[in-house]
Amino acid sequence: MADAPRTVLISGCSSGIGLELAVQLARDPRQRYQVVATMRDLGKKGTLEAAAGEALGQTLTVAQLDVCSDESVAQCLSCIQGGEVDVLVNNAGVGLVGPLEGLSLAAMQNVFDTNFFGAVRLVKAVLPGMKRRRQGHIVVVSSVMGLQGVVFNEVYAASKFAMEGFFESLAVQLLQFNIFISLVEPGPVATEFEGKLLEQVSTAEFPGTDADTLSYFRDLYLPASRELFHSVGQSPQDVAKVIVKVIGSARPPLRRQTNARYTPLTALKAVDPSGSLYVQTSHRLLFRWPRLLNLGLRCLACSCFRTPVWPR
Ligand code: NAD
Repeated sequence: MADAPRTVLISGCSSGIGLELAVQLARDPRQRYQVVATMRDLGKKGTLEAAAGEALGQTLTVAQLDVCSDESVAQCLSCIQGGEVDVLVNNAGVGLVGPLEGLSLAAMQNVFDTNFFGAVRLVKAVLPGMKRRRQGHIVVVSSVMGLQGVVFNEVYAASKFAMEGFFESLAVQLLQFNIFISLVEPGPVATEFEGKLLEQVSTAEFPGTDADTLSYFRDLYLPASRELFHSVGQSPQDVAKVIVKVIGSARPPLRRQTNARYTPLTALKAVDPSGSLYVQTSHRLLFRWPRLLNLGLRCLACSCFRTPVWPR
């Protein structure tokens, strides 16, 4: 007899990776999942519902969830049959890019409230049930920026580093309860997330920032970032496919990068644990040899340079 479908709760499903993941899981040919696709603003559910097609109301339901609100989390869980979540996917996230001096503390706190405390809030809510049942899987959409810092993304990277430390620590205890944690680390993904962000910051003022820093940000970082997304960016569908595999695996990995073309950049940090190689190479490529950086990114985009993502 087939196992009962697992209930999968996903945050941030109105767009991007969350939307794609919800649809792919709901359309699983073996019907292994009941997907609760959540979003902060139900007014935006049209795209998801259209993409879900026949799965809507069958293997996929849409629910309201703001990861920054205790009440919203409690309300959402109370609507799930038995209140039991087998797989939690912490996907909701916001970005923040720009010279530090020009960013408000409120904007920085919002990044941590959403990316870090939003995930913690959901985990606290589902963990007692998972522990009682002695089973569960918590998937966290982190980022390669949870493994290495990236210039002008200090606060966003810090929020993803915080997630990595928190969930790696928790993973040890939870194994004792047969609960697995998986940190999925996409590189650049072409979603609204980065598109909107880069568009906004290209015209933003960043008050209090000196002229040199502003020029580095606008004339060096922004063009390099656009090239990075253009050359090695993945689609949300491809990232969702990797997450589907992680959810379906009998022994889920703790960490899983999604983008083979980005691995040479993360490898710099692994190769030299002192960190100097990564920092100095990034500095030289951005500030001294931006043309070489462009060329390197185009080479990475070329299929003959692809390296396998580890672990498979
Ligand atoms: P996206 O903007 O399409 O999706 C993010 C979703 O989170 C949106 O639907 C947004 O409405 C939702 N969200 C924001 N605040 C929320 C809140 N308080 N409560 C509930 N939902 C909220 O972008 P995406 O690329 O699909 O991002 C999904 C995840 O992937 C994020 O955690 C992001 O950090 C991560 N990520 C993105 C990239 C990239 O390049 N796009 C790279 C690595 C990791």
